[in-house]
Amino acid sequence: MHRVRHLGTATTSATNSLIPALQSPPPPLPPWIERQAASKPTLQNWRVAIKANIATTGSGTTSCASKLLRDYTSPFPATVASLLASHGADVLPQKANCDEFGMGSYAIHSTHGPVVNPLDMERVAGGSSGGSAAAVAEGVVRVALGTDTGGSVRLPASYCGVVGFKPTYGRFSRYGVVSYASSLDTVGVLAKSVDDIKTVYDVLNVADPKDPTSIAQLHEGPDCGQRIFLEEGDKPLAGIVVGVPSHVASMLPESTLSRYSNALELLEEKGATIVSVDLDNHQYALGAYYTIASAEASSNLARFDGVRYGSTLTSDDGLAGLEQVRNMFGPNVKRRIMLGTFVLGSSSYASYFHQSQVVRRLIQESYNNVFKAVHPITPSESTERVGDKIAKCDFIITPAAATVAPLLKDVQKGAVVDECADDVMTVPVSLAGLPAIVVPVGESASKEGELPLGMQIIGQFGRDADLFGISRVLT
Ligand code: GLN
Repeated sequence: MHRVRHLGTATTSATNSLIPALQSPPPPLPPWIERQAASKPTLQNWRVAIKANIATTGSGTTSCASKLLRDYTSPFPATVASLLASHGADVLPQKANCDEFGMGSYAIHSTHGPVVNPLDMERVAGGSSGGSAAAVAEGVVRVALGTDTGGSVRLPASYCGVVGFKPTYGRFSRYGVVSYASSLDTVGVLAKSVDDIKTVYDVLNVADPKDPTSIAQLHEGPDCGQRIFLEEGDKPLAGIVVGVPSHVASMLPESTLSRYSNALELLEEKGATIVSVDLDNHQYALGAYYTIASAEASSNLARFDGVRYGSTLTSDDGLAGLEQVRNMFGPNVKRRIMLGTFVLGSSSYASYFHQSQVVRRLIQESYNNVFKAVHPITPSESTERVGDKIAKCDFIITPAAATVAPLLKDVQKGAVVDECADDVMTVPVSLAGLPAIVVPVGESASKEGELPLGMQIIGQFGRDADLFGISRVLT
């Protein structure tokens, strides 16, 4: 197992959460980032780790946990990394370990070795941002950045008992984030408290001219989250309606169900009204997600051809050289590329890729039908029929995972589909581009001797800031 180069006790990790850095001085920050820092809160003395698929300059590698990019250093930093540094954060040169290119649910597909769970070293930390979650849980850093394409911040947050936030798609800049599935990729934040996540949110919620999908300036409408945040007294959630998807309970084991109902009781105690909501077509979410994500990955990863990145080839190497470079991808990444290439082929496009896009839109609409707030970009026509009252809510709550962190030995010999199925609670949210936060909630958080299981609170598109109020009340 790799151990982090000793930089004082605070950066020593026993869980393989951090990837050692190379030796070189940090470069200056881009001037426009320096200007952004002026009016934002300070992160002075906040130690931060950044996932290995987010570009940083200087001594930190951007290996994406891949053999192909093992010693790769980026010539430019990701906007999110620059923003943290410009607000005074102590950004570690060591990068947070993860699944190769962010593909996986357990942080076991890494050229740097698997990340283990600091709460129980026999178990996985969750993936793909397992190093980020483990580093926070261990106390090596105060905050870590991860990426969340289908659940990669939320699942490890749940398994490691920390708070994990996935923003609305486009909220944080993706400039300098190595693309896995571009229409789903987001940068997420992990920390021990909701307040720390909110502070980092305020720093990263910046429109980036370098990212054409950046929506930081999107109007959020009246902010019920802000109201809850400031609310005093016993019932801070009075007037807030929380939806419980009617299909979820049948997918959960008894132990998770009891934690789920404890969380619902706590919500009611704090004044919230709980309603059952019907989210149609969610049974197709996993299939649609893995089809779309693999298709986009097969296209994005075509750039790793030995010519532009991680190249050791010369013109004499020819096709055999290309094969040699592509062979450096691990088996999980190869599987995604092959699946993605297949679903984009002319004979399968209509039945797989196109169908998945249709399912994606239906899932988006199913959320639109139950949220009180209107989707600011793609509102759906109301499906409410006469006499048919659909319950509307401010938030939706589900567990973040069906179970607590599995044993490393079990997942290493487990089936590939089981790994994919562990995302069942998180991928529908990603397909719809919605914001969500995972928190260890009151009684449902780990009791002594028990492993944690986070609850996921989901908001309407663009309503990121609303999530902080309700999740703060629950922790
Ligand atoms: N487990 C999912 C996948 O492998 C999610 C990964 C992620 O969110 N980066 O695609």
